Amino acid sequence: MRDKLKRQIYMREYSKQYRKNHREELLLKKKIYRENNREDLRRKQREYLELNREKSYSKVKEWKDNNRLYMKSYLLEYYRNKDNLNRKNELRRKHYYTISVMQKVYENNIKEFGTLTCIYCFTPLLFGKDTIDHLIPIYKNGNNDYENLEIACRVCNSTKGTKTYEEFGNWVITNIHNEKGVLNETAI
Ligand SMILES: [Zn+2]
Repeated sequence: MRDKLKRQIYMREYSKQYRKNHREELLLKKKIYRENNREDLRRKQREYLELNREKSYSKVKEWKDNNRLYMKSYLLEYYRNKDNLNRKNELRRKHYYTISVMQKVYENNIKEFGTLTCIYCFTPLLFGKDTIDHLIPIYKNGNNDYENLEIACRVCNSTKGTKTYEEFGNWVITNIHNEKGVLNETAI
């Protein structure tokens, strides 16, 4: 028993020392791994965020609140890089809808339901309480044509996140009876 404990302490000390002595090398290895598995890691991170949305958001918010000055200088530096600025503007453009498209989306929704209604939970909505949902998210190369746009309530829209219409349908079917399901508590 004591030997085991001794060995554990020794191993812990050894690996600590090893990490310390090979720091650069290990960091480089990590970096290469991250670069080679970028898509995979991003997907995993997205999945984790979707499952732990509230927890992750509040953690990030708390961190940002505690590091406000750092965030400010970080963002200033970040957008000084032209590429980052262009990317931001491009994203903004992607979220831009023309008025005639918006009019069509609202008209179609009201024509279909009689009043402004969430297409997922069928809750009637007041103007201003509605959100625009992309059936195929911009994130997954969806566009801003009116065929891709629908009216949704905030709960459904944020629960849907980056899922497509079909993925969200399947998600609802498998999670709807789950006691912790967001839709269960608030919308249905
Ligand atoms: Zn809804």
